[in-house]
Amino acid sequence: STPGEGVRLEDLPLRADLRGKSPYGAPQLDVAVRLNTNENPYPPPPELVADVGAACEEAARELHRYPDRDAVALRADLAAYLTRQTGVALSERNLWAANGSNEILQQLLQAFGGPGRTALGFVPSYSMHPIIASGTQTEFVPVPRRADFSIDIDAAVAVLSERAPDITFVTSPNNPTGQSIAPADLARLVDAAPGLVIVDEAYAEFAEATGRPSATTLLASHGHKLVVSRTMSKAFAFAGGRLGYLAAAPAVVDAIALVRLPYHLSVLAQASARAALRHADATLGSVALLAAERDRVCAELAAAGYDVIRSDANFVLFGRFADAGRAWKGFLEQGVLIRDVGIPERLRVTIGTPEENDVFLQVAGDLAIKEL
Ligand code: PMP
Repeated sequence: STPGEGVRLEDLPLRADLRGKSPYGAPQLDVAVRLNTNENPYPPPPELVADVGAACEEAARELHRYPDRDAVALRADLAAYLTRQTGVALSERNLWAANGSNEILQQLLQAFGGPGRTALGFVPSYSMHPIIASGTQTEFVPVPRRADFSIDIDAAVAVLSERAPDITFVTSPNNPTGQSIAPADLARLVDAAPGLVIVDEAYAEFAEATGRPSATTLLASHGHKLVVSRTMSKAFAFAGGRLGYLAAAPAVVDAIALVRLPYHLSVLAQASARAALRHADATLGSVALLAAERDRVCAELAAAGYDVIRSDANFVLFGRFADAGRAWKGFLEQGVLIRDVGIPERLRVTIGTPEENDVFLQVAGDLAIKEL
């Protein structure tokens, strides 16, 4: 038997504030149509695969050495990409990279949150924000969105001055609801927030394709308290590569250097991300296609009788089910894995390939009769 198998979680000297909590994680099930974690459904093109292979082989010759601790070459490549993507001229001193944007968010909370500090978020939003807050012993302050899941900006401005959070999360486009925030509204929130505002732009490329600009456009005017967090996991089709990054004033990068683990980004991670970035145009070719599919899925869901929340991302929140948990199982029984994000009456579906979306829509059409 496995040594220590009899030891229970309750037997361990776990921190009191972690007792009784459950770990984050969507079920990773082996199902034909997986539309539950907002990945890009298209695998990387063969040229990218070959380039990542060659870059890793080259990097493997240096595996006896620690990587560049500051990942300067990668940060320069990310700055060039983001400059092209957003039109805002950025240098490697504005960029920082880590193992997924989750690690970026954790490093930000390690540096700017912590015991006695608060992080405010507009809920429902990305469920890792409160979990990362809890892991860093930062108190999370949830502020509800409107019934249509938009942020009431006037009310938010009032709450920000009243609660004076050390950190404010704004997710744009918001996961799991899909809407993005207009730069003018964001500027009002940043002006009202006394502390740092983290704009989580994990899905920004999809919104940019829809003409909604990135918050990086506010860095010149609001750089003293604005951080933009992004990732290669979604539009960039690099979820398995684990590469997230932020854009901010260089001083924010200096602050993170105080808490990051040395050599956190392996030689292989840095090399493969740089290789993937060289193929940005090919990878992002799928973004417009996915945005068009999103609009098709929304229209067909609405035609089948569903209530659909307008989305600027690669996923859609829809309902309203009499019982969302039962409906989720109904999809699964037909080989379609989507996400129950814990919002009553609603489920979230990631946009897949046209064929996957057709299967999903077929099942959704059948279920509408029973479950709405
Ligand atoms: N932010 C948001 C809003 C997300 O939805 C996700 C992925 N689910 C992340 C951050 C983290 O993604 P990653 O760590 O892969 O960059």
